[in-house]
Amino acid sequence: MPELTEALCSVARSLHRRGYAHGSTGNLSVRAGDLVWLTPTGRPLENLSPGDLACLSLEGESRNENRPTKEFPFHLAIYRARPDLHAIVHLHSFYATALSCLENLSEQEPLPALTPYYFMRVHPLGVVAYHRPGAVSLAEEIGARIASANVLLLRNHGLVACGATIEEAADRAEELEQTARLFFQLRQERVRLLTPDEIRQLL
Ligand code: ZN
Repeated sequence: MPELTEALCSVARSLHRRGYAHGSTGNLSVRAGDLVWLTPTGRPLENLSPGDLACLSLEGESRNENRPTKEFPFHLAIYRARPDLHAIVHLHSFYATALSCLENLSEQEPLPALTPYYFMRVHPLGVVAYHRPGAVSLAEEIGARIASANVLLLRNHGLVACGATIEEAADRAEELEQTARLFFQLRQERVRLLTPDEIRQLL
């Protein structure tokens, strides 16, 4: 357990230091058995240590004195829906959030086939409709969409990336942010996309 919560705090500090989580945005969690450790509400991800984390049961009962992020309902919904997932990274990172705000975003293919790494770490990227942050309806839709994707883009909000470990979840989150950045940087350029055959070799 100490290793899991230490790893969560280390990844949280790293994401904050490198500009993926501004202000007090962003929240992370890890699950061990039927207990979930989450980053606390109203705190930046920098300087977090394991003693700051909130602990909840999968049903949402507090197991220590710390208050979790207000977005905890969707973390629990993901763990209840996918027993194979043990870590979640949620960010309002700049380019993924910009992508989530585009009016004509394609739900089937929200990003073009720019690099193989997008297919290896992110694809398929699920798109979740806008709901008020922390709303039960947001948790319900995320819980349903996570059945067929490990990474979700939340409309007008940000990203959710999941993994077997916190390092894997963060890796997927960073790959989505970088792919979205490439997409915006290349919007005015003529671009060579991966061919269907090249994509098939990656899946
Ligand atoms: Zn959020």
